[in-house]
Amino acid sequence: MKIGFIGLGNMGAPMAANLAKAGHTVTGFDVAGTTAEGVTNAASAAEAASAQDIVITMLPNGAILRTVAAEVIPAMRAGATLIDCSTVDVESARAVASDAEAAGLLSVDAPVSGGIGGASAGTLTFMAGGSDAGFAAARPLFDIMGQKAVHCGDAGAGQAAKICNNMILGATMIATCEAFALADKLGLDRQKMFDVVSTSSGYSWTMNAYCPAPGVGPASPADNGYVPGFAAELMLKDLGLSQQAAEAVDADTPMGARAFELYRQFVEDEDGKGMDFSAMLPRFSKRGRG
Ligand code: NAD
Repeated sequence: MKIGFIGLGNMGAPMAANLAKAGHTVTGFDVAGTTAEGVTNAASAAEAASAQDIVITMLPNGAILRTVAAEVIPAMRAGATLIDCSTVDVESARAVASDAEAAGLLSVDAPVSGGIGGASAGTLTFMAGGSDAGFAAARPLFDIMGQKAVHCGDAGAGQAAKICNNMILGATMIATCEAFALADKLGLDRQKMFDVVSTSSGYSWTMNAYCPAPGVGPASPADNGYVPGFAAELMLKDLGLSQQAAEAVDADTPMGARAFELYRQFVEDEDGKGMDFSAMLPRFSKRGRG
């Protein structure tokens, strides 16, 4: 297939390289001039998108996605498929999908989980929103770039699934970290805390698979000085998107709101920027109730 790939950043570059490695002809574009292995660079987003079967975008946010889509959609040939893999607000995903459909294109919002490691290894999970025909067109590429793709529903459903998942993840990481900090102050050994909670009703992915306490549980960013992994500022972005969505549909999300505020404080006012999102544990350890 002929594929245009716009946004060759930390995630986009390895994803595009995997498509090229699988034998597809990939033309890329990034404003920063970055490139990817096996990918031919174009001079503009429109050039990268014209005459392609599929165009994939992997961009920082919804505003940039809208700008790029406005340039790319008119350049694409009728019947082609636009796949956005960025994490963006549900409204932007739906607006781009509606513009793409009006131009005779198929479109899919397909944010990912799995991070930079998953992008390089081709083991991402895709959460997709769009028509059956759009999902069917995108599926072979999801199979190359990832190990699982779930068709969640109509346009925007992929983004909805992503932000709901990450709202649970953010709140759960905070709960796990504050519980460790409390256990410390109660004189409970961290390994014992792990042994009990990981096999009791407090277990979670954050405790069992990504334990925020160094030297406890499977290897995680905590064992590497809290180098990300999944950076606190990316968690903040996703929690912001879930709050934006909750406001738009009048959903009561007090835990999500509190998690957003704590990560905002951690990233903007404390030393959380550039740290893994599990570095909430040393943050809580340093603090008292005041
Ligand atoms: P990144 O900042 O490394 O990459 C984004 C790229 O888009 C950059 O190279 C930038 O130059 C390019 N870009 C910006 N404006 C552009 C434009 N107008 N035209 C062309 N290119 C443009 O970010 P990333 O880590 O690759 O993340 C991309 C998306 O994936 C984000 O939405 C992020 O939330 C999401 N995501 C990231 C991770 C992760 O672990 N990094 C995990 C899951 C999802």
